[in-house]
This record gives sequence, C-alpha cells and structure tokens, in this order.
Amino acid sequence: MMKSAVALVSGGLNSAALLYDLRDKYTVCPLFFNFGQANALAEYRSAQSIAKVTKVGAVDGMDIPHSVSGCPPKMQQAAMIVFAWSYALLLPDGFDCVAIGASQGLSIRYLREFNEAMSLAMRFGSLEMINGTEFVYSPFDHWDKCDILMRFPEAPFGLTFSCRLHSLESYHCGTCEGCLERKQAFLAAEIPDRTPYADDEGVFRG
Ligand SMILES: [Zn+2]
Repeated sequence: MMKSAVALVSGGLNSAALLYDLRDKYTVCPLFFNFGQANALAEYRSAQSIAKVTKVGAVDGMDIPHSVSGCPPKMQQAAMIVFAWSYALLLPDGFDCVAIGASQGLSIRYLREFNEAMSLAMRFGSLEMINGTEFVYSPFDHWDKCDILMRFPEAPFGLTFSCRLHSLESYHCGTCEGCLERKQAFLAAEIPDRTPYADDEGVFRG
C-alpha cells in the first residue's frame, strides 16, 4: 500500500516540485493555508492547477490565524507544520508524514528534533493511526530554488505563482520579494523564465 502524505502547498515553485516529487511515491493530500495573505486566491488557484496536472488529490484549504504572517520564517514554518499535523490527525485513513517543500535549509535545524519529539508524543499517546516514523518529510532542505528548477525540469513551474502583492494568478508584479526570488532562480538555473512580469517591457502595455 502506498504511503500517504499531507503536502503543504502555496502554489509557488517549491509546491510544483514537491507535488511532482511526491506524486509517484505517496498518496498525496495537498493542503493550502489561508492566513490572510494578499495573494491567497491566486496562490490557491495555482496550487489547484498544479495538483490537477500532477494528478494528486484535490487541494484542501484551511484557515489559520493571521498572526502567522508576522512571525519570523522559522517560527512560521514550525507553526504551519503543527497546523498541518492537526489537520492530518483527523484524516480517517491515517497518514505517514507531513511533506513540506522548504528550501535553503530553513527547516534543517529543528526537523530531527521535531521528528523525535513527535515520535515520542505519538508513542505515549498511542495514536496508532500514525503509520511512519519520519513525521515531517522535507526533501529540499539542502537546495535553493535554482536547484529545485534544475532537478525537476518536468515539474509544472508554468502554473506556479510567486507574487506577494497581487491576487490574480495571471499577474506577477516583477518587483516584490517573491517575484525577485523567482526571477533570480530562473536566471541562475539558466532556464527561460516565461512569467509575464508587469515590469517587463511590452507586458501589460496600455
Ligand atoms: Zn510580485
């Protein structure tokens, strides 16, 4: 029987690579968090498109406290993993892991400790519905976005959305942090970036 994973998705490049990577190894339940981000609708739609193309399960959405957005990145990630866990615990068939597509070592430091602590907690709690021992699966820890683009050339990156400022998935501003990271990743990977940025010449004229 195939293992099952609750996969955190935001509709960005990492999400496309994550669902692409998981699709043949796990029964995937993609989970999207709404914490009041300005681009939530576009992110959610992109996540849905990626899930459809990679033929994993439909994306489920979960509202989490908006205060998450003000946390430092590591704290934000830890909170999201815990929320994903609470979601996964309610799945009727159990699950093997929560999968995240975080890159650049954001999660390296605490993942082992987190897995050990959860393993202990689950054992004491006798929650037999938890099937595995690697509770958080984070395959891209050692990579940056450029690595992700290069290692998954077949992943549906064209469907992804990275702009932090807008909530129309057809619109990338080209200047926000998310857009700049995206541009830099394509540039470093030497892969043509077909994203229609609004600050490009000829795009959105008039
Ligand atoms: Zn942007």
